[in-house]
Amino acid sequence: MVRVRFAPSPTGNLHIGGGRTALFNWLYARTKQGKFILRIEDTDKLRSKQEFVDEILNSLKWLGFDWDEIYYQSQHFETYHEFARKLLKKGKAYTERSLERDGEAIIFKVIPQKIKTNDLIRGEIEFDSQVIKDQVLIKSDGTPTYNFACVIDDVASDITHVIRGDDHISNTPKQVLLYEALGFKLPQFAHLPLIMGMEGGRLSKRTGATAISDYRAMGYLPQALVNYLLLLSWAPGENRERIDINEAIKLFDLSNINKTSATFDLKKLGWMNNQYLKDEDSEKLTDQIIPLLVEKKYIGEENFDKKYITSLVKLFQPRLSLVNDFPDWADFFFVDEVTIAPKAKEKYLNKDFSREFALFIERLDGLKSFDVVSIEEEFRSLVSGLGIEAKDLIHPIRVALTGKTVGPGLFEVVYYLGRERAKKRLRRFIK
Ligand code: GLU
Repeated sequence: MVRVRFAPSPTGNLHIGGGRTALFNWLYARTKQGKFILRIEDTDKLRSKQEFVDEILNSLKWLGFDWDEIYYQSQHFETYHEFARKLLKKGKAYTERSLERDGEAIIFKVIPQKIKTNDLIRGEIEFDSQVIKDQVLIKSDGTPTYNFACVIDDVASDITHVIRGDDHISNTPKQVLLYEALGFKLPQFAHLPLIMGMEGGRLSKRTGATAISDYRAMGYLPQALVNYLLLLSWAPGENRERIDINEAIKLFDLSNINKTSATFDLKKLGWMNNQYLKDEDSEKLTDQIIPLLVEKKYIGEENFDKKYITSLVKLFQPRLSLVNDFPDWADFFFVDEVTIAPKAKEKYLNKDFSREFALFIERLDGLKSFDVVSIEEEFRSLVSGLGIEAKDLIHPIRVALTGKTVGPGLFEVVYYLGRERAKKRLRRFIK
């Protein structure tokens, strides 16, 4: 049975790279009906923090990566010591007294040799152990090193496939030597290609290596982020980009992971988020948006019209690329006085529209039924009577009502603003 693990160190938040590693492990487990194991690598007592454990677990849950087992390396210290003593007994390791503190380190003797592994993504890799120095297994303070604890745990938890980022490739030969010295069977290794930032170079904080929880706070949907992470190293074929995770489970295999590095492109992620936002359940989205509106004081904490807000959400959904953009895009529905962007005024309200606006107000007043279709009919009949093109009046009215040059359809905007508010905003421009 396939058993894979994701092994974060709780010394920081879960970032994009870690999210992708978790995704591919989880996906492989689900594809093969295997087990996905979470191992918290908290051997560094000083740098490991409970708040990071919580943050990592919450982010994994949010992304939808449920785990079958979880354990903490800090609970296994006795096992690491036991295996280190075995290596000492076999003469494959030696001790070294610490000069600074009471205690001794256990060090693994590296015998020069060629080390070969068959990586499922990179193919055969050959390392020369000439460059590998003797390896500390247990530090003089009693804590195990990453490479040693990693091997012991991967063996103890029957890991069949070690899927991790390419940044660990230099650790692999060191681990292979330990497997051999302990007489353990090697797992299959699969190193995922690096993720680069848009400006080349490794993904850095500046180029988008932000925590998964930050993406959540910015208003990305988990399905969109997961789909995007998937595309960073894998393609479902036929030039498809959007793929539901359940379908990916059916199609995925390690053998068709890209070998070349991926580029993290925020614009593309925004596009992907829009693809999912379009189809998201509007009520669910509204629940996510309400706190943002409360925060902006656009609505009170309790007395708001949820049905009305849902209608507005529906209006913006096709264009929204971030949930959190909604309050800024839809602000004109929630404030009394709209602020007109100077550029918008310059472009579309650069002459006197008193006559046209007054006539439109008249038409609105004359409407027996105030609905989107009737508003549009009146508007079309007005512009044809004036002998102008629809767009010659649509843009100025939009700017007067919303303060912006882009937005949802004008007749919907008029309808949802309501007759009185629309009239009031137009009147401001009548001399
Ligand atoms: N704790 C390591 C990391 O966060 C795990 C590496 C591995 O998967 O072996 O990078």
